[in-house]
Amino acid sequence: MPELPEVEALATFLRERAVGRTVARTDVVAISAVKTFDPPLSALGGAEITGAGRHGKFLDIDVSGLHLITHLSRAGWLQWRASLPPAPPRPGGKGPIAFRLHLAPELPGGPTAGFDLTEAGTQKRLAVYLVREPAEVPGIARLGPDALALSVDQLAELLAEQRAQLKRAITDQSVLAGIGNAYSDEILHTAKLSPFKLAANLTGDEIGRLHEAMIGVLQDAVARSVGQKAATLKSEKRSGLRVHARTGLPCPVCGDTIREVSFADRSFQYCPTCQTEGRELADRRLSRLIK
Ligand SMILES: [Zn+2]
Repeated sequence: MPELPEVEALATFLRERAVGRTVARTDVVAISAVKTFDPPLSALGGAEITGAGRHGKFLDIDVSGLHLITHLSRAGWLQWRASLPPAPPRPGGKGPIAFRLHLAPELPGGPTAGFDLTEAGTQKRLAVYLVREPAEVPGIARLGPDALALSVDQLAELLAEQRAQLKRAITDQSVLAGIGNAYSDEILHTAKLSPFKLAANLTGDEIGRLHEAMIGVLQDAVARSVGQKAATLKSEKRSGLRVHARTGLPCPVCGDTIREVSFADRSFQYCPTCQTEGRELADRRLSRLIK
């Protein structure tokens, strides 16, 4: 799933490639992906792309005051296309393309560049919105402060109110925006904190470590991701991870074996020596976590 660093990199990529260019048209392939109807997507035709940015994990493309916003969800991605065919993809097709944006050619008769929003797998959750204000998107209106824009004191205040376990608290977008399953594993490992500690019970020292790890891990990932082509971002993300998705491999810090906690539809990883004083997560705690 794209998280803050990948979405930031996609926004940077679009600022370089698409800002200043004019939208020719959009093709909706997965009708269920489009969540808004006013203004209509046809309002984008002939309008100039004037900016690209991010709200948590939402990508926001500013098209002369209208905001084309997408949430890539777990298996979604943006694929830049240097040359698009004129015929629209077949709506309701079985392929991964959900939405396509064509830019007007830079030279008359030149190639039509643009991008596809794609989604792999059978669970279709990618969402596209066209709004006048980003806050019209319910998921954006609910976002907590951005993870990269938070002081250690603000983080302390925010966590003091959380009754949840740390892993859940820092991935709850209404508490803190931008962090998902992968980077929370990395942040907690770097901070040497158990994912199961109650967020409200962190000591001042632990909050300091968490804050430093959060900023460090995210900034590092942004630095590695920005400048990567959209196509190589996913592998770049994978290569930078130290614990996430590395079950059974040695911890790069202490050499202990990375353990996994799995749920029906996802899993996360931690290092017992670095994070839980050598304790493996017992089933009893697992079931409490699932509730
Ligand atoms: Zn370790």
